[in-house]
Amino acid sequence: METTTKKLSSAELMELENKYGAHNYHPLEVVLAKGEGVYVWDVEGKRYFDFLSAYSAVNQGHCHPGLVEAINKQAATLNLTSRAFYNDQLGVYEKFVSQYFGFDKVLPMNTGAEGVETAIKICRKWAYEKKGVSKDQAKIIVCGENFHGRTVTIISFSSDPDARGSFGPYTPGFVSIPYNNIDALREALNADSENIAGFLVEPIQGEAGVNVPDDGFLSKAYDLCRQHNVLFIGDEIQTGIARTGKMLALDYDNVKPDILILGKALSGGMYPVAAVMANNEIMDVIKPGQHGSTYGGNPMACAVAMKALKIVREEQLADNAYNLGLLFRERMNVLVEKSDLVSKVRGKGLLNAILINDTPESSTAMDICKALAKNGLLAKPTHGNIIRFAPPLVMNQQQLNECCSIIENTILNFNKK
Ligand SMILES: *Cc1c(COP(=O)(O)O)cnc(C)c1O
Repeated sequence: METTTKKLSSAELMELENKYGAHNYHPLEVVLAKGEGVYVWDVEGKRYFDFLSAYSAVNQGHCHPGLVEAINKQAATLNLTSRAFYNDQLGVYEKFVSQYFGFDKVLPMNTGAEGVETAIKICRKWAYEKKGVSKDQAKIIVCGENFHGRTVTIISFSSDPDARGSFGPYTPGFVSIPYNNIDALREALNADSENIAGFLVEPIQGEAGVNVPDDGFLSKAYDLCRQHNVLFIGDEIQTGIARTGKMLALDYDNVKPDILILGKALSGGMYPVAAVMANNEIMDVIKPGQHGSTYGGNPMACAVAMKALKIVREEQLADNAYNLGLLFRERMNVLVEKSDLVSKVRGKGLLNAILINDTPESSTAMDICKALAKNGLLAKPTHGNIIRFAPPLVMNQQQLNECCSIIENTILNFNKK
């Protein structure tokens, strides 16, 4: 065994990941060793603005002192009981989170994908027991270019060949329609009204490149679901918890989903915490033994999630994201006018993307991200030629302006290969 305390360099640490870790990611070549608020530092001590926030998990900022305190306190007290016994955190958290989002009940899980799986199971069981769908006939409508996680069932209804290919056989029972197409949803519902159990949708498609649907799409979709007695399932794992400038992105459309799925920022990046929420007539279809998770609802998760949600309210992160988002898009729109390299900026709150004027196959967006990193700002391309910008929501206006300047200077001085 190696016993040396010599600090490894970035190159050495990357080599370790490369050699001993499965190659299921393609990271930017930066090795992070420390985080605080909107900043992260690499092993060599260089400071960066984090413009990814771990895919919107770190909305409350890196190592938020309140969260560090909450997790340390609970870690030293009680960690895991399993759900075989009650614990003194779970009920308190369940009441808190249910009232926070206005639902009767919550089903606690760990990761986002588990949350989505949970929602699918609840929806199917509801279909058989409440809607009267015949055995094994329940279908859930999903949208093209969706991202809901990585389990076999979830990738079964992905349209991304990398996510889906070579992982069959696939789970049946899903119907895919184009995103943001209300006529396609109406047709799919009309075609099989009695068997459709749910409509699973991201209010903004984050992974697909921050696809913002037309105003009214989500509320019309919700009304159609009502007409057909179909559950509207909102996946707000990425868009929720103040990211888009409201507590939930669905708040823009005044839509309250029948089932709400949260994850990521529910713990402010401290710990994997996910939640599925619904009212009693839906949630009560789940009975003991029918679903669960060893770590789901553990005391650490409960303590951390409660604190993470309190921080969002206390620090008014939704309003901050809303206001900084307006500023960000305003400056980026000026950049779109000035540079041939950027063709568009879109998003809501602090979930935004710029479209790079090149093919998705080109390395231009990745090369821009490398240049941004050099200039002290971390972001990653999604879908080839789109760069997502999602900083922690604890950013202030001065920092945002500094970041906009970094992006502008990088783009305006960028020489395409
Ligand atoms: C990240 C994400 C998931 C999956 O969450 P994991 O914690 O990675 O399993 C699901 N849906 C959306 C919209 C996401 O952004």
